[in-house]
Amino acid sequence: MKVLFKLVFLLTFFFPNKVFSHVFMVKKQPRNVFVKVLLDQRNSKFLSKIRIESENPFYLETPYSIRKMLIKNKKMDVKIEDNKLKIPIKKNNKNNLKIINSNELRIHAKDFSIKLNGTPYQGIIILKIIPKENKLFIINKLQLDDYIYSVLVSEIYQTWPHEMQKVQAVVSRTYAIYHMKVNKNRKKRLPYDIKKSNFHQRYNGFHTYDHLKEAIEETKGLIITHNNKIALAMFDACCGSIIPAKMDNLDFKKAPYLARKKSCKFCKNYSLYKWKRIISIDEFLKRLKENINITSKIVGCGKLLRIFVTKKNAAGIVKQVKLICSKKNIILSGNQIWDSMKNKILSLNFSINKQGDKIVINGKGFGHQIGLCQRGARELVNRGWDFKNIINFYYPGTNFSKLQYAEV
Ligand SMILES: [Zn+2]
Repeated sequence: MKVLFKLVFLLTFFFPNKVFSHVFMVKKQPRNVFVKVLLDQRNSKFLSKIRIESENPFYLETPYSIRKMLIKNKKMDVKIEDNKLKIPIKKNNKNNLKIINSNELRIHAKDFSIKLNGTPYQGIIILKIIPKENKLFIINKLQLDDYIYSVLVSEIYQTWPHEMQKVQAVVSRTYAIYHMKVNKNRKKRLPYDIKKSNFHQRYNGFHTYDHLKEAIEETKGLIITHNNKIALAMFDACCGSIIPAKMDNLDFKKAPYLARKKSCKFCKNYSLYKWKRIISIDEFLKRLKENINITSKIVGCGKLLRIFVTKKNAAGIVKQVKLICSKKNIILSGNQIWDSMKNKILSLNFSINKQGDKIVINGKGFGHQIGLCQRGARELVNRGWDFKNIINFYYPGTNFSKLQYAEV
């Protein structure tokens, strides 16, 4: 949550029909559910170097390996070039590169902890090339609960109260399983289930805050469902008291629990509940021009004379902004402004004005403002609410289910 901003997801928000099939029904216990997290994606034509380190020996295998290759060195650099994976080997006392006869390399450590480019991970690292697309996927496959345990530190703070860790554990577990299910139902499945960034949920590898394990254990297998289907448990840093039910750009029929009618005012003491950003006009126009989707609209506009919001929806989300310039007038969508001003605009609930040679933006909330409001939830914990009541407030009409069987 530290810089939680899933607006990109909101812009592409849609619900594939198949996602809403029933809660998983197969024969594995939750502890054996594995999630594949995309750590990075690169062009596999160009040279890439990936450093693997481990205190203990580690193993390499491909999907076709009969036996694993043991690497006794504590570190190894895997090279990727021209859609080929290459590892260093010693031959006749000389250092050589061996081309792996597969598009996929799996790297296991004996103690299940491995460092990739300096960051420790549990589980295994998968390097997968799709030559036709010139794509290299760097993936961490690990147990779902180990993943959720690591997500907690990236999405909220380890110092936050225990009950809040439970809220986030259930929400993040549900969110991950939802995306695993989305991937499972794709015609052409992706090599990963979920991204490690704000686009989905933040994950920065293994940590050692052991006390967070209790939140995982105490909510073991617990997920949020609606009509026996897995909920899309969206969350953001601060809702700014917006009422999601008033938004007009989401398909609430498929996810009625995101159409919360009750306002959350519990986040109002958070520093970004209200925010103000000031940017010079030159910088503002430069950023707009650099956004390739709108460059042609901006070029040749002359001097910016006035700027203001012309349309908002009932929830207060900016739909349209007008720029009056000396040579032409320009209409931009709220999304286009946000897209150009990343890190400046924290939500789409804002006003924008010209004051002298500056642009002044005043806004409320931080994130897409749908689902769980983390700052609000934390305040509710302080007021004595338990994690189930908090989740029911932010996702009205949902239930809790135990993920006893999983098909992933
Ligand atoms: Zn809130």
